[in-house]
Amino acid sequence: MEETTESKEATERFAKRFLDRLLAKPGKPGTATVVALEGDLGAGKTTFTKGIARALSLPDLVTSPTFVIEKVYYIDPPQGPYRRLVHIDAYRLEDPKELESIGWHEIATDPENLILIEWPQKVAGLIPPRAWHIAFSYVDEHSRNMVVTEPAQ
Ligand code: ADP
Ligand code: MG
Repeated sequence: MEETTESKEATERFAKRFLDRLLAKPGKPGTATVVALEGDLGAGKTTFTKGIARALSLPDLVTSPTFVIEKVYYIDPPQGPYRRLVHIDAYRLEDPKELESIGWHEIATDPENLILIEWPQKVAGLIPPRAWHIAFSYVDEHSRNMVVTEPAQ
């Protein structure tokens, strides 16, 4: 799955299609769905997350959680196995232990959680092998490219 979008709205629509693809997959017991959003500042990671939130009909639209590390949004009614969208921005983390200290292991082992994490390379050792990866890149002022890598089964 790969796309170059020409607007932030198109990136949000791509996010909805990605969510549809996730929802078509069976859940895995004992593990959350983790989506690692990689790419530079301004590449569209938070915009993509907003698109997911909109597609889930969440009342609060996602804002950047840069200053709080993590925000949890309740999905009501649940969509597929998901009852919570967990949005993490690891940009400011100095040490993966900071994420562990807010309960990462519990969050990442709950199949009802859909976790989107910006700057996953800051906490590389905590990203499970069966995470999805999406590489975002800046093309020009209005265009961004996204490449989705699905976890091996
Ligand atoms: P990140 O979270 O990766 O730092 P953001 O999603 O916060 O990036 O910011 C992306 C910025 O780029 C926003 O200001 C958005 O309006 C702008 N933009 C322009 N074109 C696009 C596009 N095709 N997709 C996503 N964002 C775009
Ligand atoms: Mg961001």
